Amino acid sequence: MTVVGLDDTDSREYGMCTTYVASRIAEELCGERTSSDSAGNTASISRTLLVRLNPAVEYKTRGNAALAIHTDCDPDRAFEIARGHLESLAEVGDDRTNPGLVVADHPAGGDGLAAETIPEEIGRFARRAIRDHLEIGEATELIERHGYRSWSDGDGRGLVGALAAVGSWRELEEWTYEHISYRERERWGTTRDVDLESVFDAADRGYPEAWDTVDRVEGEPVCVPHTPGPILYGIRGDGLETVRRLGREIESEPVASSRLFVTNQGTDAHLREGTIADARDGRAYRLEGQVATEPETRRGGHVFFSLAHPATTGTGDGDGAGTDRAVDTDDASSDGPRLECAAFEPTKRFRDRVRALRVGDRITACGEVSSGTLKLEKFAVRDLVRTERVTPTCSGCDRTMESAGRDQGYRCRDCETTAPGKETVPIERELEEGWYEVPPCARRHIAKPLVRGGFDTKTHLER
Ligand code: ATP
Repeated sequence: MTVVGLDDTDSREYGMCTTYVASRIAEELCGERTSSDSAGNTASISRTLLVRLNPAVEYKTRGNAALAIHTDCDPDRAFEIARGHLESLAEVGDDRTNPGLVVADHPAGGDGLAAETIPEEIGRFARRAIRDHLEIGEATELIERHGYRSWSDGDGRGLVGALAAVGSWRELEEWTYEHISYRERERWGTTRDVDLESVFDAADRGYPEAWDTVDRVEGEPVCVPHTPGPILYGIRGDGLETVRRLGREIESEPVASSRLFVTNQGTDAHLREGTIADARDGRAYRLEGQVATEPETRRGGHVFFSLAHPATTGTGDGDGAGTDRAVDTDDASSDGPRLECAAFEPTKRFRDRVRALRVGDRITACGEVSSGTLKLEKFAVRDLVRTERVTPTCSGCDRTMESAGRDQGYRCRDCETTAPGKETVPIERELEEGWYEVPPCARRHIAKPLVRGGFDTKTHLER
């Protein structure tokens, strides 16, 4: 079985898209466009993988995608065909485009390529490419050690993604689908002609098997990109037949070609377990913490708050259990490690959820850390502060009492009433326990929508 891994063909300026290059290669391998070659060789494709790598990588054009085609084509022939397409389609006019191609040959299993025959270290390389930062040198070393065929242009950076795409089938367990429809070449760069009503109708029919097709609150067709490239729309979901069917049901300008991709989109494969103390830039985490500062809306509409290690913030009774923890906001500071968390303006209504957090709430926060700030993709409320400790009010005049001196409680000078200390009052909360997520219009390709299920507590879905 031949695996053709490829990456880095597109440019922000000039367009192109590596899924399109992979699709063209796959078409030629199975003789769809070119009939078969002179020797009558046609191959079959068992699947085409669209693998999203570390979204924090600085070299990415947009979604950090790498592709792998699994085919029964002879590896030498596959290599020549793939190289030809990469040479002619990659936008190397942009010096940030550094295409890479890796062709591996591993035994077939019952359902195409046998995942366990891909070397373990190639699998691990894929996992690390999704969660970490890798060097080109490591990719070339592995390519050589395993005798893979390879080709690259520019600085060879594309070999990292191409090799990761090869290894992903061994390493990843969770897969979803995307059915992508491509535009006629002469229309690239022009406004897409897609009937929005048909998109919203199809999205309703396909939900929840197909997700992130539209954003119903923003009224946005999320499946239609804004970039100048060849994609007309892409339907994502868990149901292979559903995404295919929806792809056919949308009314639009002519579809030049289409392809089904098996992907790690919507799986949270980028998240690693971490702690506030060891979270580092350029990686994405799932971490436990306690809200340490009131969420603050800054210029541009971005919302920020600090997250502290659960044990380090002042929290009333301190056992953290139940709903009667009360937080004295004057006392909520700590010297322990903290991490700034942000919900940026494009996350729209998600920011209201973040603004509803209060000091002392315990949450699980998920997102990428960049410049010391965790960009929230979702969070789970674990324990809400439901009461607070406030300066008592006078029962005689209803005004706030004053301090009677250090450790001497409070008093009302006028009514001569006293109170031994702060009093506990209930707080109305807009949040409940459970997971909250960014809306579909702000979803990262690799982030798992709550509708896919499998979360450890109640979910509050955005559709
Ligand atoms: P698009 O989504 O529009 O297809 P892109 O966002 O996938 O574009 P690329 O053009 O593929 O971006 O650029 C990403 C580059 O970074 C590739 O050369 C890829 O090999 C490399 N790369 C990906 N992940 C890592 C990583 N974890 N460490 C180092 N380099 C990486």
